[in-house]
Amino acid sequence: MSHTETMIEEAVNFSLNENQVMIADMIRKFGEEHIRPHMMEWDEKQIFPLQCFKKLGELGLMGVLVPAEYGGSGFGYFEYVTAISEIAKIDGSIGLSMAAHNSLCSGHILQFASEEQKKKYLSKLATAEWIGAWGLTEVNTGSDSANMLTTGVKDGDHYIINGSKNFITHGVSGDVAVVIVRTGEKGDSRGMTSFIVEKGTPGFKGGRKENKLGMRASETTELIFENCRVHKSQMIGKEGDGFVQAMKVLDGGRISIAALALGIAKGAFDASVKYSRERQQFGKPIGEFQAIAFKLADMATKIEAAELLTFQAAELKNRGEKVTKQSAFAKYYASEISVQVATDAVQIFGGYGYTKDFPAEKYFRDSKLCTIGEGTSEIQKLVIAREILK
Ligand SMILES: Cc1cc2nc3c(=O)[nH]c(=O)nc-3n(C[C@H](O)[C@H](O)[C@H](O)COP(=O)(O)OP(=O)(O)OC[C@H]3O[C@@H](n4cnc5c(N)ncnc54)[C@H](O)[C@@H]3O)c2cc1C
Repeated sequence: MSHTETMIEEAVNFSLNENQVMIADMIRKFGEEHIRPHMMEWDEKQIFPLQCFKKLGELGLMGVLVPAEYGGSGFGYFEYVTAISEIAKIDGSIGLSMAAHNSLCSGHILQFASEEQKKKYLSKLATAEWIGAWGLTEVNTGSDSANMLTTGVKDGDHYIINGSKNFITHGVSGDVAVVIVRTGEKGDSRGMTSFIVEKGTPGFKGGRKENKLGMRASETTELIFENCRVHKSQMIGKEGDGFVQAMKVLDGGRISIAALALGIAKGAFDASVKYSRERQQFGKPIGEFQAIAFKLADMATKIEAAELLTFQAAELKNRGEKVTKQSAFAKYYASEISVQVATDAVQIFGGYGYTKDFPAEKYFRDSKLCTIGEGTSEIQKLVIAREILK
């Protein structure tokens, strides 16, 4: 058997492993008790439910990929995909925050920080004693992040950071942030460096909170740096490594956004199936109209395909192989079909789909973020095309 055949043979294993089953059960119970009763209020009022994340930390879900030696659960990407998608079936906002904390902040430290930094920060992040943020995006540089303007200027044993980051998940509530700033020439991919900055560091603060369409319980804010002095011991890796590190972090992070999109699509689909059986028009359940039944068939097919792409990327990641193209496939496809499935769900619910008394409208609003965060769909296509044409 060729390497590819072996990979396909092993990757196409449809049964969940014991840990995935355990995680899915745990999240279902946790979600019914601690998320579902409150989620519409969190959504309406844009409340970031810190206590909920502390509880998720107790369950090991805020350090899914962090090895046990640093206080984490020590699982691989299969378990991680299951965790994010099961949470997102209930509430996408909680899934987004979990993904940002696990993949971006902790993921960056896990992949690139020194042993000393890992011991210091991962133990707190994995238990959710601390909430993590990750700052790459700026007001004028989102997709074009290599042109960032926030600077870190060397001053003896310190770097003085000035500028701001935009759209940062947990920018205010985060206890620590990994930030990527420009230490060299503008636009030079080797001109950026990552630093770990703790809350309370003089000159560092959270800023304005965004008022968002969806994912409203996930906090999104500015990060502001005004002559913020950060000791060189807070640098992750070497000066100039920041952008390359960030791109690798996003390769993994995109698998979690695919999982997030998948979970939202599954939640919208499950609600649609239930409603199609219950809602009667013209004397029969609407699911008996072929127009609705075919919609369900299309939704289910797209979800299955997205799941296969997501677990294919997870499998490669578990093996430590390069995952740039596969995580872009998964992120691009899962997020696009998530929006399509959630849109179909609103249609199946009819007028009730347009109200907040039924779940469809929230899936619809939450799903859209997945085609934007951690690289838009257009950027995923650029990544895929670049890999193909190499
Ligand atoms: C809820 C939320 C949470 C977020 N969390 C974080 C976080 O924790 N940390 C962080 O660093 N960032 C975060 N982001 C930022 C997110 O990653 C960016 O919004 C995203 O990368 C897009 O950047 P932009 O918004 O500046 O859009 P732009 O880059 O301005 O894009 C605008 C449009 O132009 C298109 N476009 C841009 N360049 C090209 C191109 N070369 N070819 C074709 N089309 C192109 C885009 O696809 C898009 O349709 C978050 C965003 C949101 C909304």
